[in-house]
Amino acid sequence: MIDIEGIYKEAKALLEGHFVLSSGNHSNRYLQSAKVLEDPKRASILAQELAKMIKESGIKIDTVCAPALGGILAGYELARALEVRSIFVERKDGSMELRRGFEVKKGEKVLICEDIITTGGSAMEASKIIKELGAEVVAFASLANRGFCKREGSNITPKPECKLPKSVPFFALDDFLFEMFTPEECPMCKTGSKAIKPGSRNS
Ligand code: ZN
Repeated sequence: MIDIEGIYKEAKALLEGHFVLSSGNHSNRYLQSAKVLEDPKRASILAQELAKMIKESGIKIDTVCAPALGGILAGYELARALEVRSIFVERKDGSMELRRGFEVKKGEKVLICEDIITTGGSAMEASKIIKELGAEVVAFASLANRGFCKREGSNITPKPECKLPKSVPFFALDDFLFEMFTPEECPMCKTGSKAIKPGSRNS
């Protein structure tokens, strides 16, 4: 097994410091998950490892479908490693749609892939549209799991916020569990340190 956390740290995709998460809570760790895919070679190593887990499970996949934008690169690399088709769904006027001439057949076995799964909200939206089109969602996958949902082979307890169904397997390379604090209770704030929002500096 490769050192997933080490790869994320090396890519500066796993940051350590004092951060404001999108939920508004503070944490001493932050996942900037697009950074791990900046180097295509690294992306390919991660996707191959994920593909190995999926192949070992014996689940047959015809197509990988990713929710845009975050999932596209991970989904594409995973499809390459699984030697299957890669498509993506995207948000249009608030709801997910399959556009650009992409199609799924009735009964086609689709895996929904993300770069990171937190509660699985976008993955579930993608799953809904794929099922409405008559295909079957046979698995979920992501490179990183934030630990709200339980991935195959992990013994963490899923949190109530997890939106993925228990009946469909979820594959991920590793769990990234963060200690989270409300700003009022944050021990780092109490020392006078100021929390930063990573990724917002250049935007
Ligand atoms: Zn803080």
